[in-house]
Amino acid sequence: MQFNELNLSQEILRSVEALGFEEMTEIQQQSIPLLLQGKDVVGRSNTGTGKTAAFGIPAVESITDDDKRSTAVLILCPTRELAMQACEELRKFAKFKQSVKISAVYGGASMEKQIKELKRGANIVIGTPGRVMDHIRRKTLRLDNLRTVILDEADEMLNMGFREDIEEILTNVPEERQTVLFSATMPPEIMAITEKFQHDPVHIKIKSSQKTVELIQQFYFQVAMGRKTDALKLLLAAYSPDSAMVFCNTKKMVDELTEELVKSGFRAAGIHGDLKQIQRTQVMNSFKNRTTAILVATDVAARGIDVSGIDMVFNYDLPQDNEYYIHRIGRTGRAGLEGKAYTLITGRRQMYDLKDIARYTKAEINELPLPNKADIAKLKTDALMHEIANMEERPEHSAYEIIDRLAGKGIDPREIAARLIGAKLSSELAHLPEFDMPRPLKKGSRSGAKTVRIDLSIGRNKRIAPNFILGALVDATGMSGQDFGKIDIYDSHTTVEVPEAETDYILDSTNPMKINGHPVEVRLYTGSDHKSDRREKPFRKGSGRPDRRKSAYKGKQKNDIFGDYIPNRKKRMKKRH
Ligand code: ADP
Ligand code: MG
Repeated sequence: MQFNELNLSQEILRSVEALGFEEMTEIQQQSIPLLLQGKDVVGRSNTGTGKTAAFGIPAVESITDDDKRSTAVLILCPTRELAMQACEELRKFAKFKQSVKISAVYGGASMEKQIKELKRGANIVIGTPGRVMDHIRRKTLRLDNLRTVILDEADEMLNMGFREDIEEILTNVPEERQTVLFSATMPPEIMAITEKFQHDPVHIKIKSSQKTVELIQQFYFQVAMGRKTDALKLLLAAYSPDSAMVFCNTKKMVDELTEELVKSGFRAAGIHGDLKQIQRTQVMNSFKNRTTAILVATDVAARGIDVSGIDMVFNYDLPQDNEYYIHRIGRTGRAGLEGKAYTLITGRRQMYDLKDIARYTKAEINELPLPNKADIAKLKTDALMHEIANMEERPEHSAYEIIDRLAGKGIDPREIAARLIGAKLSSELAHLPEFDMPRPLKKGSRSGAKTVRIDLSIGRNKRIAPNFILGALVDATGMSGQDFGKIDIYDSHTTVEVPEAETDYILDSTNPMKINGHPVEVRLYTGSDHKSDRREKPFRKGSGRPDRRKSAYKGKQKNDIFGDYIPNRKKRMKKRH
């Protein structure tokens, strides 16, 4: 259904056309007609589905010349960014409608300026609950003639502790009014508000998450334990996005990861709720104008922020909720553009979680191999060759002069070019992790692969059992228990069969290591030391294959990593990080 099929005024239709909107999104189709009739509505729909227009168009349409001096519509948003964003978009809808005056009020900005603007008469006011309350108390915002209240991202406002402000605002507006609520989720607190303050609301729920994520190609990478940051650096270097978002589950992780990325020369910045408003605005602006290429964010900080043209989204941490996954990847692939979403997976449990997400979103999430340093070197080389071949500007004259002078010293011009190109390439690759990422071995791939033995400086005298050893190795390396072969426990040491190709990686990630509180040294087993152990009968596991590590889902594991059994998500969440 197109906008011009609605009974909208010419002014609005012109502005919608100017914006390039033709087809309405589902939430718009369902809510705009109801809102134009003055009905109360509860709308649920994913990020990026055009909710601002869904409530903004009817709001702008409802303003008449009689509303010159008084506020007829109040829109509450959780953050200053969202209020500013909604304000900008509504002004676009009102472009050809002179009677509409829109003001935004939010914390962290000059009160004076806002008061002045309100005094000039704003018939639509958009603001954060705290600042709106402030203006109501100072009587700089009068709501006696209010007809419509809209709560955008209502669940987020509650999460941010605005419940009391919202309730107070809703208690202080005329009873005969339209109340509209948009929310991504419907926790009981929202239901309570709906019941208390809405009148016979129509519930609209746009289910298909698929629609919004249709254009997003989704992939995952298997990453060894403790190597996610390195993996991310390799990916960012390989894809060199102009604009990417990286999601973490905690503020601390956002800070740490941002610092790591910046240290490695990436143009990254972090955003989360602990930042001051002014810092958040700075970060957002630099991301919007591409000064910052990589925005590292928590779910809450990123909620509702609409930046167009994001090339790709990375899930550094798996989201804590399936719905978050959709929100996150919905940042890319907007407005009909193709987008990409990459998820980093560590260990088998996260694999189950991802399978759960794939089932929930009905999306295909395919595995990709991590690029290694050689792949990236090749990409960078190709890019540099392309750059040099297509350089339009000629170098300054002094450049040639320098070559002549160096040539005068007997350095061949070819050598000069090679040195410069070499230096440029190695500076681009300098901060990348040195190693190639080991991929956890797939089942079966071990058979036939060459193995060696490693030696651990702990044995039966420390009451160690094969499961402890295997557990510690799996934890330290992120490899699968299946990747380890025969475990022989002697009195004071233990040998474990490992794939030869992974030896360096295993030694690298197990030193230092503790098992049962004992520091353990791990090295390649040469078979010649530990003479004293020789006569001991080693402990051997019957089949020569390791037992699966004891775990909550022992016995329920399917052969396939995408097996049916999904362990309890909450329990497992604690285990991450
Ligand atoms: P939400 O609030 O649901 O997260 P937004 O209102 O921020 O989504 O809209 C996301 C983007 O889609 C915005 O850039 C908006 O301009 C654009 N948009 C909204 N409705 C349409 C439409 N009918 N056609 C094309 N683009 C639209
Ligand atoms: Mg929105």
